[in-house]
Amino acid sequence: MIDLHMHTVFSDGELIPSELVRRAQVAGYKAVGITDHADLSNFEHIIANVGRFAREHGHFFDVTVLTGLEITHVPPSLIPDMTAKAREAGAQYVVVHGETVVEPVAPGTNLAAIEAGVDILAHPGLITDEEVALAAEKGVCLEITTRGGHSYTNGLVAALARKHGAKLVIDNDAHAPRDLVGPEMRRAIALGAGMTAAEIEAAERNSWEIVQRLMK
Ligand SMILES: [Zn+2]
Ligand SMILES: [Zn+2]
Repeated sequence: MIDLHMHTVFSDGELIPSELVRRAQVAGYKAVGITDHADLSNFEHIIANVGRFAREHGHFFDVTVLTGLEITHVPPSLIPDMTAKAREAGAQYVVVHGETVVEPVAPGTNLAAIEAGVDILAHPGLITDEEVALAAEKGVCLEITTRGGHSYTNGLVAALARKHGAKLVIDNDAHAPRDLVGPEMRRAIALGAGMTAAEIEAAERNSWEIVQRLMK
């Protein structure tokens, strides 16, 4: 298993990177991406510190550790510039905190993230046909999340991704040890979103492809 959306104490997660990665390793994950919530105030701090951990200590765990971040509640008009700044500062990939129905995420966030060409649009909530079509065109992966609340709209995301040929990834959005789901629950949540076995396999392959591209 791979998970490309996880939080540590560098934002609102409960664990420091070493404990999160160790627990992920024990739970069966082969690669993880740490993606703490970021805005202009903290992105350099996250990338410098999580990046240092990943580079210097990551390989002591039997897990590939990537350094991303999750641009969160940044006004849509600022998302392109924030994405560029994050990449310049050394983020290996960029996630945007999408328009989940359980938080007051600004309307226009999904579209801004897709237009900015981020790597993953997390929990995109009531995403539209047009947005999913554009995500497919731009190669932006849409997220199926195992996280309670954010997961309410997984079924819509899966259905529109199928309709428009958009890529999906499956992520935990883990903030605490209990959020690191095992393979059976991960699969059950994806099946519950209406995904077929082949679509689940394709989503897992999409995550592998991101890891392999970033490890080159
Ligand atoms: Zn969070
Ligand atoms: Zn998150």
